[in-house]
Amino acid sequence: MPDSYAIDADWNALYVDGEWAAAESDETLAVEDPSTREQVATVPAAVEADVDAAYEAAAEAQSEWAAAPPARREAVIQDAIEALQSHSDDITDLLAHEAGGSQIMGETSVQIATDQAGEAATLPRQTKGDHAASNVPGKEHIVKREPQGVVTVISPWNFPLNLSMRAVAPALATGNAVVLKPATNTPITGGLLFAKLFEDAGLPAGLLNVVTGRGSAIGDRVAGHPESDVVAFTGSTEIGRHVAATAGENLAEQSMELGGNNAHVVTADADVERAIDSATFGSFVHQGQVCISINRHVVHEDVYDEYVAALVDRAESLAVGSAHEADTVVGPIIDESQRDEMLDYVERTVDAGATLETGGETLDYDGVDDSLVVEPTVLSDVTNDMPAACNEHFGPIAPVVPFSDIDEAVAIANDTEYGLAGSVHAGDLGTGMDIADRMETGQVHINDQPINDEAHVTFSGTEASGVGGYNDGAILEQLTETKWISLQREPREYPF
Ligand code: NAP
Repeated sequence: MPDSYAIDADWNALYVDGEWAAAESDETLAVEDPSTREQVATVPAAVEADVDAAYEAAAEAQSEWAAAPPARREAVIQDAIEALQSHSDDITDLLAHEAGGSQIMGETSVQIATDQAGEAATLPRQTKGDHAASNVPGKEHIVKREPQGVVTVISPWNFPLNLSMRAVAPALATGNAVVLKPATNTPITGGLLFAKLFEDAGLPAGLLNVVTGRGSAIGDRVAGHPESDVVAFTGSTEIGRHVAATAGENLAEQSMELGGNNAHVVTADADVERAIDSATFGSFVHQGQVCISINRHVVHEDVYDEYVAALVDRAESLAVGSAHEADTVVGPIIDESQRDEMLDYVERTVDAGATLETGGETLDYDGVDDSLVVEPTVLSDVTNDMPAACNEHFGPIAPVVPFSDIDEAVAIANDTEYGLAGSVHAGDLGTGMDIADRMETGQVHINDQPINDEAHVTFSGTEASGVGGYNDGAILEQLTETKWISLQREPREYPF
């Protein structure tokens, strides 16, 4: 087992049935630090037999856990929070090494994970059923709320700690067992770290199982395992559709949180300074690799030039470089293929007629060859059909699209297959509300930017951004099912 929470601990083991064990195959996956481009850890590449063992352990352990008193489940989650807090510096460091997360990203991740687990700790006491009278004489109805059974969690690499925590902690809190498959780029902070946290918290064996391995190799077995009752997936729409179909074959419940192409609308009467503060954070935090970051700036023509100039100034003022530098705001993109895709979007958008105002290049630093750091990039004269605007770019790119009236702004914002998040800056709050109402997304923030996530408020997307929801009551619904029991207290009269 890993002897610490540090990146140089031995993470080369799966966690199945409460044991740290080698995978059935000797194959491993290398974890590369996106800042230094060096290998910093090795984890096992699980095969189907490892996946089967994980589900077997989960199914075996689950019923006893479901019967545990709510206070016992709550206490384990609280102890996991304590472990998280007491190792917060190590975990921030792990996020820098594995995900290229800046200090801001790492600290925010720990704080949000604490909030997510704190909210989950309230679920054992909130899990309540219902009672109803009957139209049949002498009968009464009891509706119990029970855990689903085994919950599959598949998470992406961009905010691995939070996107695993938001499913793992509520699943365990509500009496389920979990099989967790993290992304290949972040197998520790999205996966093996959870095994360590919950092991330290005293979670009984079998309730949390972590299998690291490529989605292309074990994903179908994970998503379609016969023992899986819920598939909680966060990732791209393309993979999500495939996972949903696989889980659907098995009639498992699905929670699919997928991609986004989020608009930041700025009206003619908006406070441009405030809109730019929002825009800078919403476009560039964690290098724009946030599902709810600003993908498109949709700005009224009267303030367009002022907005573009101010955004360029702010983009150029940001500290850019290695995630290991304390003041870095914009660190590296997760890997080479993602970086190349970002640069390609920029190049093709310029070819299509946009103006590159700043950025658009990688930044070399401290002897790192072939750096993954992409400079904060602002593109003007963009139309909504250009590559950086019509695709979900997942990088520090700010395409600015002009509009002339509110109907056009709403049409541009909604001209995407996605419906995840958005934001509006408007001087008149009524206009802001009107635009927010008309944006076809699961979440809109007025006079702010779209990156908001609070564990007590429902988080969901619509259209190609997913089905189901996280946080609050939404996750409780998803991870539990109802069971109707009726009680016939006196002999019933049947018609024959
Ligand atoms: P991804 O490529 O879709 O991968 C997500 C997860 O699915 C990874 O663990 C991946 O494993 C796994 N996977 C791949 N193929 C699979 C298969 N056939 N069966 C089962 N699992 C499979 O997404 P990503 O690139 O990691 O993350 C970025 C995407 O996530 C963006 O589109 C972003 O918008 C979205 N996202 C959405 C939300 C939200 O709340 N709506 C939040 C964050 C991110 P491997 O890594 O091994 O391939």
